[in-house]
Amino acid sequence: MNGNITDVYIQGNRIKEIGKQLEVKAEQVIDGRKKALIPGFINAHTHAAMTLFRGFGDDMPLKAWLEDKIWPNEAKLTSEDVYWGTKLACLEMIKSGTTTFFDMYHKFGASAKAVEEMGLRALLAGACFDHFNPELREKGKQAVKKLYTESLSFSDRIQYAAGPHAIYTVSGELLQWIHAFAEEHQVPIHLHLAETEVEVRDALRQFGLTPVRYLHRLGILSPRLILAHGLYVDDEEIQILADHGVTVVHNPASNMKLASGYRFKYREMQIAGLRVALGTDGCSSSNNLDMVEAMKLASLLGKAWRKDPEAVTAKEIFQTATLSGAEAIGLKGGQIAEGYLADLCLVDLNIPAFAPNHDFVSNLVYAANGSCIDTVICDGKILMQDRKVPGEDEIIEHASKLAYQLVVKPNA
Ligand SMILES: [Zn+2]
Repeated sequence: MNGNITDVYIQGNRIKEIGKQLEVKAEQVIDGRKKALIPGFINAHTHAAMTLFRGFGDDMPLKAWLEDKIWPNEAKLTSEDVYWGTKLACLEMIKSGTTTFFDMYHKFGASAKAVEEMGLRALLAGACFDHFNPELREKGKQAVKKLYTESLSFSDRIQYAAGPHAIYTVSGELLQWIHAFAEEHQVPIHLHLAETEVEVRDALRQFGLTPVRYLHRLGILSPRLILAHGLYVDDEEIQILADHGVTVVHNPASNMKLASGYRFKYREMQIAGLRVALGTDGCSSSNNLDMVEAMKLASLLGKAWRKDPEAVTAKEIFQTATLSGAEAIGLKGGQIAEGYLADLCLVDLNIPAFAPNHDFVSNLVYAANGSCIDTVICDGKILMQDRKVPGEDEIIEHASKLAYQLVVKPNA
């Protein structure tokens, strides 16, 4: 704004000072006129390398889609595929303003290498299954130990999380072992939970309890736990999750596209003090990684099912898409304040979505999409300026080529 220019001085990877006309000599100056500075988004649930399956097998029932399209092709994935698929995801996230993401996938090392090179920050969970089989359980434990050790060789931008897939693919015994491992090594746990009605019905039949009560009985609810979806939870379960400091990640696009459900209890969770973060889920179910779109979907969906225009306001969902994700993993980020991580974006205000600009956050959530992001800084380094990311053409071309080759390769 004219006559109201604020300087933000970044030193190393932190915001050192904020003020009017700062008297500091910077190595590099970015002109922020006609731009707005926001914290980078935190995409709290995705499967990055699934960019390779974007638009592959859409509009199908969940079971047929997984069994005929996704699982046979995931079985053929090489480290090179995951590396390029993750690079493509990072490129897309940078171009739409995400600076940190929580991932769950296969081939940890390939994902970590891609994230390192692209300059983002990520909580990477190695997907873990035992299918209630004791032999696979031992293998799963060994994999968790190995990936944790492997994660220590990467920079501070890469954090390891244990990634038990879901309660219908991972036994209670392995979940408890993972919980103990996570406590010992101080790492988060990323788990899909209460995503569909079928999951709840099966949990009642198999364990005699709803999903949240089952986890409670296993004794694995803690602030380390990040639950993707949490669509099917009652008021008592919401309170149990809140009391244990758990985080729930809302993924509106995925929930709607897979027809999992839509009554995400945002308000009940806020009232109970349960932390809610926002995610896109993988590109095969969302089909992009645009957190600006995710904010709009979460807000509109939250209003629609309640028939209440005051539900899930733009300001609330903006905070859910930034600060909440940071708090979920104890990251000093998600807001623009001195001492916080320099994970920031400049929004281009010189586009129709911000004219007129009566209310910036409203325009960002309801009028814009991820292409309004002009500049991205993560860990104090510029990853995109004037919407250009170094090497983007090669990433798009190579990842697409590998995706086409993958789906025609004979099944393993
Ligand atoms: Zn997911």
